[in-house]
Amino acid sequence: MDCKDKKISVIGCARSGIAVAKLLANKGAKVFVSDSKDVSNFIGEKQVFDVEGIDYEFGSHSERVLEADFIVVSPGIPDKIPILKKAISQKIPLFSEIEIASRFCEAPIIAITGSNGKTTTTTLLGEIFKEAGFPTVVAGNIGLAFSEVVHKTRKNGVAIIEVSSFQLERIEKFKPKAAVFLNLTPDHLDRYANFIDYVDAKKKIYANIDETDFLVYNFDDSIVAQGSLEAKAQKIPFSTNQNLTDGVMISNGKIGISSKNQKKWICSQETINIRGEHNLSNALACIGVAKIFNVSDEVIIKVLKEFQGVEHRLEFVATIKNIDFINDSKATNVDSVWWALGSFKKNINLIAGGKDKEGDFDRLKEVISKKVKNLILLGEATEKIDLALGKHVSKVAKVKSMHEAVNVAFELAKENEVVLLSPACASFDLYKNYEERGRDFKNEVILLKEKFENG
Ligand code: ADP
Repeated sequence: MDCKDKKISVIGCARSGIAVAKLLANKGAKVFVSDSKDVSNFIGEKQVFDVEGIDYEFGSHSERVLEADFIVVSPGIPDKIPILKKAISQKIPLFSEIEIASRFCEAPIIAITGSNGKTTTTTLLGEIFKEAGFPTVVAGNIGLAFSEVVHKTRKNGVAIIEVSSFQLERIEKFKPKAAVFLNLTPDHLDRYANFIDYVDAKKKIYANIDETDFLVYNFDDSIVAQGSLEAKAQKIPFSTNQNLTDGVMISNGKIGISSKNQKKWICSQETINIRGEHNLSNALACIGVAKIFNVSDEVIIKVLKEFQGVEHRLEFVATIKNIDFINDSKATNVDSVWWALGSFKKNINLIAGGKDKEGDFDRLKEVISKKVKNLILLGEATEKIDLALGKHVSKVAKVKSMHEAVNVAFELAKENEVVLLSPACASFDLYKNYEERGRDFKNEVILLKEKFENG
């Protein structure tokens, strides 16, 4: 991509906006960054932009944004803001940050999307490829912008990129060598008009791929499986419950890969260290991708055995009085909680609630009545969750803080049970993000443990 002397506006000055502005300025473009938040939020950024020769404005989006060959739009920003409406009416191309970064990428791209499991799968794949000796870049929605590290990509390596629906909305030529489609359940319905719009955004992951590329997709998810018929790629389905004749599957506790009815066994299901059937599914996706790149069974087995999972995803925190405390703060939608609850054989004392994302809590009724004894509710969605699920548990406790949540859960729990934070909601009512919520939970658990052990 030649951007020398091109005029490019970047809307949104967060991690990916800053990274793409720097990347483009570095390639000779005249970059203008615009963010509607007050200038007081951007003291450090201003200094960086001054050094890099990047222009900027804060506090509002002026018409100058429109004086551009194209505009890079940050993932959090919807089309309906006035400046974007104007840009669209003036036919100024709008791109996402991954579209731009991918134009400078030397390595084949492995792109991972889905409603849940993206970060876990992206991280696990990264470990597999690093162990196999590939020059590996892991980036995207995972917390490190693709633009920030794209210069590290190598032809003989891989770029493993987690992509969200927001980032896929504004792609044009983004063409992964392997696209991974994990699952699709209602999420972000506060941003999309309906589920179909959300599905359509996700499906763009395979919009540009062809017969020379691969689509690794979840055969067990009917919407994903149905949609993948449209893709032109070579297809590798994976399934935790079907003995596929083509794809990655499990049979009698053994994981195998089959092609044209020839099966090859890789390892036992027990090899996978991370808990739950959803993680089994994520691991099968990784195996499907690893095999495209001829990674050996030995490498795959070693990494599957060692991988501990990612922080805030069913993360073990501590055991107090034989009660296990688990942090699943990243479970910000109903589906991830459904899978989390299914991962435990023991009775669960569930801490849930937060900022509602229009979640259909009714979907949890059955699993809650089977698995959850007590429900501890915190945050804005408390009444809505109580209404949907309260009658399916022994006791509902409504609390005001994480400190109270952890202590009440401990009082209610019996030995050999689990206290699980798996909120089914976003965190923004009480916290900056889910990481802060998860850390608060872990802190309270550690304090409780110290208090308990010191009598
Ligand atoms: P994402 O990046 O898509 O949000 P994460 O790997 O961060 O996915 O996991 C988010 C939440 O979803 C966690 O609570 C995790 O335990 C759960 N989860 C992980 N993989 C899956 C899956 N395949 N299906 C459903 N839930 C999953």
